Amino acid sequence: MAKYKPSNEKQMVMLPISLQDQLVPGTLEHTINRLVEENIDLSVFDERYKNDETGAAAIHPKILLKVILLAYARGMISSRQIERACQENIIFIALSYGYAPDYSTIASFISSMQSEVQTLFSDVLLVCEELGLLDGIHFSLDGVKLSANVSKEWSGTIEELKHKRDKLEEKLKRVIAEHGQADQHPQVEIERQKKRERRFQLQVERLNEFLKDREPKLGSEGKEIQSNAVDNASVKMPSSHGVVQGYNAQALVDSKHQVILAAEAFASQDHENLKPMLAGAKKNLVSIGKTPDYFEGKGLTADSNYHSLNSLKVCKENATSKPKLFTAADFTFDATRQVYLCPHGKELTCHARGQVNRHRTYDLYHARTEDCAACPLRLRCLKKADTVCRNLSIQVDSQQPNLIDEMNAKIDSEQGKKIYARRLAIVEPVFANICVHKHMDRFTLRSKRKVDVQWRLFALVHNIGKSQLFGALI
Ligand code: SF4
Repeated sequence: MAKYKPSNEKQMVMLPISLQDQLVPGTLEHTINRLVEENIDLSVFDERYKNDETGAAAIHPKILLKVILLAYARGMISSRQIERACQENIIFIALSYGYAPDYSTIASFISSMQSEVQTLFSDVLLVCEELGLLDGIHFSLDGVKLSANVSKEWSGTIEELKHKRDKLEEKLKRVIAEHGQADQHPQVEIERQKKRERRFQLQVERLNEFLKDREPKLGSEGKEIQSNAVDNASVKMPSSHGVVQGYNAQALVDSKHQVILAAEAFASQDHENLKPMLAGAKKNLVSIGKTPDYFEGKGLTADSNYHSLNSLKVCKENATSKPKLFTAADFTFDATRQVYLCPHGKELTCHARGQVNRHRTYDLYHARTEDCAACPLRLRCLKKADTVCRNLSIQVDSQQPNLIDEMNAKIDSEQGKKIYARRLAIVEPVFANICVHKHMDRFTLRSKRKVDVQWRLFALVHNIGKSQLFGALI
């Protein structure tokens, strides 16, 4: 015969729990706790709270920050999931000191972090810098199109949305008319009718509210593009999973340890985002003490979606490296003798005329080897120490060098292929970590301002993970 231990659900149990002991050194929760306590400037949140004279004490922002960072790292994106974790999960209870913030407190804290998230990102970047995780010589930029917290059903031109509103109004009238004959229906059917009526009413109200004095939304080419009645900042974009109504989440990654240097969500295509992303990364790097010319002489790779004339101009502006060598403008032409005079006053004679390469036609001039060998300006004139004399190519056709062709040639070269191949290994694992491992596959907030905060928080969590893996915060 079976014999079981007694079970008494009414018995009382006292469990001694040390909250501190739950945060085991070496774990991500321990790293988050230490970072927030010791490395992040929390005074940026003080402005929000004006309750010192009257009002109840608020939950400390460090508590909210810790639980949100850990929740994002574990793939919990919704505020209700985070609320539940703070009630049921001992690690979240330890991080929140048992306060168990509710979902609305968590949601409004995230939504209103636009100004603070920049400081938090810089603070964590500084930790990465102190741990020696920065200073790669290669950077990669990429983006992922993530759905916004809206439906494509609410998108259309202003005329299309008006048409939709009119159709909904007609439907609403029909439902109200059916509701008028409700006496003949059973109670269940009447309740169902009421719900339908309310739903259509809300939809018509939403569209009326949105269309009030609404101007058409214009795209980069000045033509009307589709608006969205729920989150009008989001846009329809083609992605690897079809067309999404959402945002383009971008990250610029350092090759050394795949730390994210800048993260931002845009409502525009990749080729428009290279300039703001480079500017954002520079701003972040300057905020941790790097110089504004940080990217000079280093490599940046991005896929073909970023390939545009404007992007290439930005790269060229940022790529200047080493002391500038004398250019053609520093040489003067002596028309009588048909020679060029160098900054040291020596002659360069024509060696070949009408040379053609893929971008231009040019004449080639050479200096004399003996002149350059003894020249005090060699360092400013010759590319390499062992170059024997200066060559000068003078463009003789009117066509300016084409940046796009130049870049194509660069990528097609052997060295270009090797550099481009590194792009995959640098940036793609970062997106896999955030979008697959941490389940950030759609935004749960609405408006550009809020989704940007959400994306930057995920970038922050990624960098904290790096400081945990490679750093001394364990
Ligand atoms: S290195 Fe040669 S070409 Fe250049 S400045 Fe000196 S002499 Fe002139």
